[in-house]
This record gives sequence, C-alpha cells and structure tokens, in this order.
Amino acid sequence: MEEYLELISDGLYKFRGGKLFIEGVCAEDICREFGTPVYVYSSSYIKRQIEKLRSAFKTACPLICYSMKANGNMSILNLIRKAGCGIDIVSAGELAKALRVGFSAEKIVFAGVGKTKQEIVDGLTANIFLFTVESVEELKTIQQIARQLKKIASVSLRINLDIDVDTHHYTKTSKKETKFGMPVEQVGSIIRSREKFSYIDVKGIHFHLGSNIKISGVYVQALERLKDFLKELNFMPSVIDIGGGFGIHYRKEHLEKIESFGKNICNCFLKNFSGSTMIIEPGRFIVGNSGILLTTVIYNKRTPHRNFLIVDSGMNDLIRPALYNSYHEIVPVKKKDCCTVYDIVGPVCETGDFLGKDRMLPADLKPGDFLAVMSAGAYGFSMSSNYNGRPRAAEVIVSGDTVKCCRRRETIQDLWKLEKTL
Ligand code: PLP
Repeated sequence: MEEYLELISDGLYKFRGGKLFIEGVCAEDICREFGTPVYVYSSSYIKRQIEKLRSAFKTACPLICYSMKANGNMSILNLIRKAGCGIDIVSAGELAKALRVGFSAEKIVFAGVGKTKQEIVDGLTANIFLFTVESVEELKTIQQIARQLKKIASVSLRINLDIDVDTHHYTKTSKKETKFGMPVEQVGSIIRSREKFSYIDVKGIHFHLGSNIKISGVYVQALERLKDFLKELNFMPSVIDIGGGFGIHYRKEHLEKIESFGKNICNCFLKNFSGSTMIIEPGRFIVGNSGILLTTVIYNKRTPHRNFLIVDSGMNDLIRPALYNSYHEIVPVKKKDCCTVYDIVGPVCETGDFLGKDRMLPADLKPGDFLAVMSAGAYGFSMSSNYNGRPRAAEVIVSGDTVKCCRRRETIQDLWKLEKTL
C-alpha cells in the first residue's frame, strides 16, 4: 500500500500512525468536517506535476495549456493559471470560466468538433489565441463569422493521423473512424488553398492522439508523420500542438517516466520543427493523482454469492469505472488488515454502478467507516451528474495543513432549482 501511494502521489498521500493523510491533513477529519462523498485535491501535487512537465519538456519549452475538461474547479484553475499555464477549452461555458478565473486570452486554445456560431463569436470577441478547427465546415463558419466581425481568426488545423494508441476504445481520438480532426487530405487541401480564407490565419497544426497514453513512441510517430506531410506541402506552421493524453498510474501498470517521455518528444520536435512553438494540452497528468473521492460505507452486505460494500458514492459521482471499466485503487482511511474480497458499489439503480470489483478490504468494515477512492482528480467531479436525484459531492482543496471547501455540496433543493412544476 505504501509503495503504491508513493508511486501515485509522490509522497503527498500517505499513512501516518495508521491513518491516511493528504499532505498534512487527515482524511478521516475531512470526512467528519465536510461529510461524504467529498472530492479532495492536493494543491502541492498539482504544482509539482506542472514543474515535472516543465522540466521534462524543457528543451522545447512548450506553452502548457491545461485541459479544463479534466477538472474545471475554479480554485484548481486558479492554481494552474498562477503556475503560468494556459488553457484548453471546448465550450462557451469553459471559455467563460477561463476568463473569469483570469486566464489571458492569448493562452486560450479552443477545441471541440461542434462549436456553435455563438461559441465562435465568443472566442473571436475574447481574442483567444487559437481555434482548433475540426472540420472543413467549421473552418467555413469561422471565416464567415470573422468576416462579419471584421476580425482575423487564428486557427490550428486538427489533423487525424489515423494513429492507434493503447488505451480504452472510447478515449482513442486519432483513428480515422473517430469524429475528431480532419483527414490528412482535407488538411492538405486547406493548407494549399488557405489564401481563399481571407479572415483566417492558419498558425498551427494540432493533433490529440487519445487519453492516458503510456509511452512517448506514438507522439514521435505522429510528429514524424506530420513532418513528412508538411514537407510535401512546403508549409511550416508557427505552432505545433501535440494535444494531451499523457498517462498516469492508476495501479502499478507500466508507464514511461515523464522525464524520458518529454525528452523523446522534444528531441523529435526539435529535429523537425525547431522554428515552431510547441503546445501541450495535458489534463489527467496534472490533476489525476492530485485527487481522491472519500466515501462512507452504508452497508456491508453479504450474500451467498458476493460481498458488497455499498457506499454513499456512485457512478453519478465517479463514472469512470462504469464508462471505461477503469481501475481505481480503493483503500480504507484507517489502515487495517485487508483480507476479504468485496465489490464496492454505489446506491444508483444500475448494475454498472460500481467503483471497484474483487477488492481486498478489511473484513469488519461497518456502516459509517470511510474509504478513499484514489486517482480521482481527473474526469471525476467534472463528469459527475445528478442521476437518481443525487446532489453532487463537495470539493475541498488541501494545502499543507489546511483544507478549504472549493465547491459546496449541492443540496436537495438544488436538484429542482431550475425546474418548474407545470
Ligand atoms: N486536448 C484535447 C483536444 C482533448 O480532447 C483532451 C481530452 O479529451 C485533452 C487535451 C486532455 O487529455 P488528457 O486529460 O488525457 O491529458
């Protein structure tokens, strides 16, 4: 257990005197003070991850645009902004949030396959750095709107390089049958005819291969392919955005160390694109292992077939196990002998509502005991919902010995505050 915590959290999550601590704060105290389910984030972890990225990619010195979709809590965004990062957004809502937190427009990149006209107007009005264009149709719409607003839209063209990556099927985004980006031929024809788009400045090329990628090789492969393609076109963009997707440990799986991951990508980049600026868009890498979800056991339910720990967090709080069959380590906040096999399930009325299956946990866990679901900082709260009439969890942030609430728990009344009984 200790070894695992060290691996995922760089020592910021550890057992002291038999109790789980996040930095200097005891997990059990958080459960008692804020209730459960509660997401807890370590601010020091987030800062360290950004430093690690800077160091691993130092030779190419990229603009780090944190991918807000991973975790959009404004306190976390502010921390990341203060660390000097830009931001990768995918909607008008994320744009408004980024601006509200104080990200400067010249560090905002706007991706997404379905930007509406209003979202394009919003981006242009805010003078964002780059629209990541995902289709010819979108490019034409941007041209039309930019002309109306008498503005030049800076864009990068998202290319679909048809590269397969070793990750869950749902998070592969660069296979040609996915909806993301444009096929190589379409990008080629846009570049050749770019003079026609008089209100568009094609500054960059973008690719995003997928999420939770464990090795640098596929990025190198993508950059090499891109080099050959751009050489044929005799076009050198001022920006190359290599997307995000850098993997993290959820367990002791094989994962290339970030130092060599960054170094390999930078070497290839500098060899082929030394005059261009690199953008990276990590989400999970920055916040994934900063966060945990604390939950309370409601019942220790025994049947002749299975042992179930029914807890007060479900797929509405953390959908990753249900959606991607993802593995999250689950540990008791008080260290005990783990000798009984359980399925840890939520209260939601779906068979897919589980947090972990076949896990060894203490035999005597009883209602009111607390568990920590690890590695829950990315795509945890941000994918949560009110399904089954369940208010969303609270979020708290730890910094040294202090813990502060950064999103209050939703109330039952919040569930209907936007509705009308007609
Ligand atoms: N950039 C783009 C365009 C994405 O679609 C995503 C995730 O879907 C990311 C960045 C962030 O990915 P990750 O959190 O795996 O780093």
